[in-house]
Amino acid sequence: MKILSVNAGSSSLKFTLIELPAKDVIASGLFEKIGLNDSCYTIKYNGEKITTNEILPDHSVAVRKLIDALINMHIISSLEEIEGVGHRMVHGGQEFSKSVILTEDVLERISKYNDLAPLHNPANIMGVRAFMKVLPNTLQVGVFDTAFHTTMAEKEFLYPVPYEWYEKYNVRKYGFHGTSHRYINKTISELLNRNDLKVISCHIGNGGSITAIDSGKVVDTSMGFTPLAGIMMGTRSGDIDASILEYMNNKTGKSVSELTNELNKKSGLLGVSGISSDSRDVEQAALNGNPRAILAQEMYAQKIANYIAMYNNLLNGADVITLTAGVGENSKTMRKMILDRISSLGVKIDEEKNDFRGELRLITTDDSKIPVYVVPTDEELMIALDTMELALKNE
Ligand code: ADP
Repeated sequence: MKILSVNAGSSSLKFTLIELPAKDVIASGLFEKIGLNDSCYTIKYNGEKITTNEILPDHSVAVRKLIDALINMHIISSLEEIEGVGHRMVHGGQEFSKSVILTEDVLERISKYNDLAPLHNPANIMGVRAFMKVLPNTLQVGVFDTAFHTTMAEKEFLYPVPYEWYEKYNVRKYGFHGTSHRYINKTISELLNRNDLKVISCHIGNGGSITAIDSGKVVDTSMGFTPLAGIMMGTRSGDIDASILEYMNNKTGKSVSELTNELNKKSGLLGVSGISSDSRDVEQAALNGNPRAILAQEMYAQKIANYIAMYNNLLNGADVITLTAGVGENSKTMRKMILDRISSLGVKIDEEKNDFRGELRLITTDDSKIPVYVVPTDEELMIALDTMELALKNE
């Protein structure tokens, strides 16, 4: 069956059309600058990439164009061929612990969490409504970034702040990248043929999070109330002392929201290196001897290593560590820097095995106390698989 996996942003819409159960990507593409004068869309199919410049006033027009293009390019012959649309939803609060069939009533319930993800959730919901309008008879499914993390216990998800912050205002750790961590856990459990694994899953891309998983259930994760917390990222600071906000507000007159924006967009690798948020640029500058690039890389690796060590303790000894996303899948330099910093756990990198990019492979020696695998992530596929499962149940 053909399933569309969709990620809608406020002015963009990314899609992948997947054939299941074969897991083949049939076509993919991106609609950009929706609502602006210079909007365009790109569709990749059969090794070709076609870009069309066309005004897309809103998401419904983009979805209509997408369906027309799929039919005109003979990728599908009719609307009915698409048996489900899976939507990436950022925030499902405490309520949504699994993927769900989206109805108007469910969308209302999801919109209760808009305050918790004001940039993402309204855009995700707008995307769903656009598909409901153009494909009213097609199953729509919501797959939440937060859902996998709803197994965390209160002692893990609570912050040590006045309890009423949680009771009245829902202040707690939610965690993100859940669909990726779930996919990685599924892949490594299938590979090692065990469903009782204790996994430390490291998603290291532009955003980054580390998750401790025991027997398929999340015990703890490094992102928090928002994706700002945890490890250092491309442009996000990760964990910092909250008092810095008041201090910097007094010193600079910048508002809390301006400063929070700097913590999200101007910090991390970019903030420390002063060069780029892209780890390739920072790596190159470090190779050229730039001291701030070297510092940024060392801090980045150390903070990831610290979380791994902490989660190894939490899990009372992990069975396996996995690395994924842009940096984890592609940067042998960063992989080595991280693994060198967890040698106290008995982890030993095999540099020959580590010399590759973008595949599922073991990168540690046979006598490494904990094996470390690179596992390419595939959130689009996970979203499509959940959609297929609900489509089959719904038949
Ligand atoms: P996002 O969080 O936006 O999905 P990605 O998972 O695509 O991010 O990761 C983007 C990061 O991956 C960037 O910092 C980029 O530099 C890094 N990356 C991609 N390819 C390589 C590579 N060959 N070597 C080092 N880093 C890489």
